Amino acid sequence: MLRVHVLIVEDERRLAEALGQIMKSQKYHVDIVHNGADGLEYALNEQYDVIILDVMLPKLDGFEVVRRLRERKDATPVLLLTARDDIPDKVQGLDCGADDYMTKPFSPEELLARTRALSRRQGEVVLDKLEFSDLTLHLSSNTLQCGAKSIHVGFKEFEVLKILIANAQTITTKEQLISKVWGADSDAEDNNVEAYISFLRKKFFYLGSGVGVETVRKVGYRLEKQKT
Ligand code: CA
Repeated sequence: MLRVHVLIVEDERRLAEALGQIMKSQKYHVDIVHNGADGLEYALNEQYDVIILDVMLPKLDGFEVVRRLRERKDATPVLLLTARDDIPDKVQGLDCGADDYMTKPFSPEELLARTRALSRRQGEVVLDKLEFSDLTLHLSSNTLQCGAKSIHVGFKEFEVLKILIANAQTITTKEQLISKVWGADSDAEDNNVEAYISFLRKKFFYLGSGVGVETVRKVGYRLEKQKT
């Protein structure tokens, strides 16, 4: 059996231990380090499926660790742990290349659910569809379905929509979309993203779906269910 390999970077030792226990109880293979510099070194030298990374860390903070990982083209999914509850920090976290964040305190169930979601992106488990409200995105046929109607979705729209659905509980930034769909080195710009968002809105409308793509000004996008 292929075990999912997780790195935990957390300087509060009791919390780090507790996280490790939770992960080990689910048969994850776990390494634990207690500062950002060690975290970066482990991350660069070992193949992890998911990195659970505290933001406030000695030596290097979590944002900086992710930034340096991404600079080295390391795409390992990163779940940031933040004690702070304000939006700017979260956005900074996602901006620097993290995949998800979780605000302390959190439940073991939430930690495991998010870790599972992130490790899937590494191809451990192949899903055949993603769902949001009345929409189903079929991953093997690139079709989007709403009730009896369905429509083919072009490659980039498909990638954009996958990310929006996977991040449905949070805001997806334009930078995330650009780096994941077009690649961090591409010269794609905000208006490329806007064009694809507009294609998706037209498809949702065509399908008669109640789902909308909300624009969060200066931040990004979020799927929204129909307001009834
Ligand atoms: Ca800390």
